[in-house]
Amino acid sequence: MTSGILHDASWLVTDRSVGASQGAFAFNNLAVHVGDDARAVARNRTAVAERLGVPSVVFARAAHSNRVARVSQAGPDVPGVDALITDQADLGLAAQGADCVMVALATVDGWIAAVHCGWKGLVEQIVAHTLRDLTDAGADLRGARAHLGPSICADCYQVDAQRAEEVRMVVPEAVVVTSSGVGVDVRAGVQKQLRDHQVESSADPRCTAEDPGLYSYRRDGVTGRQAIVVARRSA
Ligand SMILES: [Zn+2]
Repeated sequence: MTSGILHDASWLVTDRSVGASQGAFAFNNLAVHVGDDARAVARNRTAVAERLGVPSVVFARAAHSNRVARVSQAGPDVPGVDALITDQADLGLAAQGADCVMVALATVDGWIAAVHCGWKGLVEQIVAHTLRDLTDAGADLRGARAHLGPSICADCYQVDAQRAEEVRMVVPEAVVVTSSGVGVDVRAGVQKQLRDHQVESSADPRCTAEDPGLYSYRRDGVTGRQAIVVARRSA
């Protein structure tokens, strides 16, 4: 698990090393929709909330969309959205992934966001939609900062020509041509889309497909999900 600070918010990124899940989901799967034992997932989620020091964490059920939900209290997974925002303290927001980029973001004036973004999210511009919804909700984005969790690298994420062109049309910085083909660097694309809105970011350099300590859908198919979780504590 890695962790850090963005303004007065804390974030952590889980890995699969320790937890209650077994088999293909071992050990720290945080997703309820992948076929894992629900009790194991609940135990893993409780441990994450305790580690972050908050009573509850709300998870987005990613849909590779540009939809954002504002949450104000604890509750079940929010389906069909790829980003969550809140101005509430003591409420964790989580984005899950197993190759896709997971983003934690915090503004100077107390708003936080958790975002899931794969190649489709680059094209759908989930980052821009999240920042727009934050602004619409009253957040001041000046000085906002973000951290990107581990994700699949372009070498491991080769795509066909059509997908590469779809990405290139929106964020050419994310398309990487190598001797073996064309890859999508989702991390670079997300960082460019954040920079376009003057949001500086740090990024975890690990590749999910190359690191056995992380879940990778492209490598394993049936597998779990790690998460990035962000929260502000009131005390
Ligand atoms: Zn890789």
